Amino acid sequence: MHFDYSDKTKNLLTKLNEFMQTHIYPVEHHYHSLVETNNQAEATRWRTPDLMQELKQKAQASGLWNLFLPHEYLPYGAGLSNLEYAPLCEKMGRVLWSAEVFNCSAPDTGNMEVLAKYGSAAHKERWLEPLLKGEIRSAFAMTEPAVASSDATNIETQIVRQGDVYVINGRKWYTSGAMNANCQIMVVMGKTDLSAPRHQQQSQILVPMNTPGVSVVRPLSAMGHYDEPVGHAEVIFDNVKVPVDNLLVGEGQGFAIAQGRLGPGRIHHCMRLIGCAQRALDMACARVEQRVAFGQPLSKQQSIRERIAQMHCDIEQARLLTLKAADSMDRYGNKVSRDIIAAIKIVAPKMACNVIDQAIQMHGAGGTSQDFVLAATYAYARTIRLADGPDEVHMMQLGRNLINDYNAKHSVL
Ligand SMILES: Cc1cc2nc3c(=O)[nH]c(=O)nc-3n(C[C@H](O)[C@H](O)[C@H](O)COP(=O)(O)OP(=O)(O)OC[C@H]3O[C@@H](n4cnc5c(N)ncnc54)[C@H](O)[C@@H]3O)c2cc1C
Repeated sequence: MHFDYSDKTKNLLTKLNEFMQTHIYPVEHHYHSLVETNNQAEATRWRTPDLMQELKQKAQASGLWNLFLPHEYLPYGAGLSNLEYAPLCEKMGRVLWSAEVFNCSAPDTGNMEVLAKYGSAAHKERWLEPLLKGEIRSAFAMTEPAVASSDATNIETQIVRQGDVYVINGRKWYTSGAMNANCQIMVVMGKTDLSAPRHQQQSQILVPMNTPGVSVVRPLSAMGHYDEPVGHAEVIFDNVKVPVDNLLVGEGQGFAIAQGRLGPGRIHHCMRLIGCAQRALDMACARVEQRVAFGQPLSKQQSIRERIAQMHCDIEQARLLTLKAADSMDRYGNKVSRDIIAAIKIVAPKMACNVIDQAIQMHGAGGTSQDFVLAATYAYARTIRLADGPDEVHMMQLGRNLINDYNAKHSVL
């Protein structure tokens, strides 16, 4: 693989850098304070500050829009390869809320990819178009409080056909985005046929948020953060009826669709986490130069220098593995790239947690405060060790595949 970014990426990266310098970093704390103000009242708590819409318009006008959607989805998206998108996504990851400005934030990106790939013409017109324009938001509801959802075959939500409708009953939690006032559509995973083989029992279905029987019960915190105005919701489906046409692809295809969506979703998280980690390292370098302890700047301490060096090495290793995974997805497809996607999903969140933790340490008490973004960034990175599959599940699958590959190659011994 080539390690140089393409001209297209370099141009977009220059534009994105300028945009971040001009429009994002200067209002980073202001945006958080707007969210805090909205949090004072339940009526406004889940409303996205108007500033987001203003920034979205500027990003769209600058051509920094829907960059995540790979070239096979043209005319939707910007037509970049995964490899071309990687450094751009990393850059967006430097500010926790900035991906949304470019219409590149989860879970909308995964849902848009699912709709573009598996949606009917009607689904695309009704849901994909407004999502691509950044007019509405969406959620993906798979995880359930009652069962170990890292094994998606456990999920219990029922999707039962009755004539022209499917009737949905179940309880989901950690449905990210479903708290947001502008969330209008959920992609829901449930079971349509309990007697089918294990991986063909599941289906995915589109459920508008305002469908009778859908109740958002409460927001769940993640590491003490409620992540307003996006949020992670507990949702009850009580005899929710939607037209049969809302089913994606067909009955029994839910597991296959989930696997398809998670590959890009996982690598996007990794790209953003590398941005988080790089920002933490940059902040640490600035901080240890400014702070003087025991007669000299902290940056003169050997142990600080060693840790800064190690943070750099760890970020660079993860970055290169992410680029290699992106390149593999472009060349061979998401399915063939499953092992390297699993590898980077194991490596990047842990790396980001460690790097951000070191940066917090170097900032002293301030590192844990709201004055620096490090504590909130750590919380985000820590949750990604669970979201889109816990570390252990990726390790279990990668380990299994590697052993099987070894056995296949050495079966003649
Ligand atoms: C902030 C956040 C946002 C999320 N957003 C969404 C969302 O939008 N939509 C959605 O559907 N879900 C979402 N999730 C849920 C997430 O995908 C699940 O938490 C995850 O899949 C694990 O499922 P579980 O919580 O039921 O853990 P369980 O399945 O109960 O597993 C518990 C633990 O057991 C261990 N474990 C599991 N399997 C193995 C194994 N084979 N070997 C060894 N140990 C193992 C792991 O450490 C795991 O963390 C989100 C989670 C968080 C924290």
